[in-house]
Amino acid sequence: MKKGDWEKLIDNLIKERILHTPKIIKAMRSVPRRKFLPENMKSYSAVDTPLPIGFGQTVSAPHMVAIMNETLQLEVGQKVLEIGAGSGWHAATIAEIVAPHDAPRSEWGHVYTVEIIEGLAEFARKNIRDAGYSDRITTIHADGSIGYPEKAPYDRIVVTAAAPDVPQPLTDQLKPNGIMLIPVGTVHLFQSLIKITKSPNGKIKRENLGGVAFVPLTGKYGHRS
Ligand code: SAM
Repeated sequence: MKKGDWEKLIDNLIKERILHTPKIIKAMRSVPRRKFLPENMKSYSAVDTPLPIGFGQTVSAPHMVAIMNETLQLEVGQKVLEIGAGSGWHAATIAEIVAPHDAPRSEWGHVYTVEIIEGLAEFARKNIRDAGYSDRITTIHADGSIGYPEKAPYDRIVVTAAAPDVPQPLTDQLKPNGIMLIPVGTVHLFQSLIKITKSPNGKIKRENLGGVAFVPLTGKYGHRS
């Protein structure tokens, strides 16, 4: 059978060693970005770039989602907070890893994804429902720069918009042994992907994983409110 464009994209990410963990490869293969795009963008879904999703926002490039998912060390059963739901696609790839259908439901983790733009929160919620993830992902319309204290603490936090610095409430909402990924930097240029690891006794380690380009985080701890 001829391979589809999405299969070929995933094969390339494996060849480039961006994707290497079998369960993450499986999850990325099984959640094509196409299902989460506006109609006029669907034909570009397997191009490895960010794509417009309306409201001046973008869905991340597949290689960036692959890098983040690999770095997060995701496991079945984890509670994950995503800030910046956008299209809902990244959240769905995470749900496939922390709550896969081949694991008993009692062992499933959950993804909470927060979106500040109401129209996009509705878009993400609809995409998540249509793709069959409503039981594993909760979409919240709120300012995620303050985290989502209602369900804290989290095993993993992933922020998909660039903040001026790491918001303290997000660090506070991370469990011991937790990992957070967050782009930090100026509005358009000079952003770095920061990995925060919390030790069992609450000590924070901060690593710079290199340059990235994300839309700005807004809200209380963002670039503007
Ligand atoms: N993860 C998304 C996906 O899979 O489509 C892409 C996210 S897009 C790069 C960043 C998103 O963060 C935008 O939808 C933007 O509206 C949202 N955002 C920015 N500041 C926010 C905040 N303070 N709280 C929640 N969402 C925020």
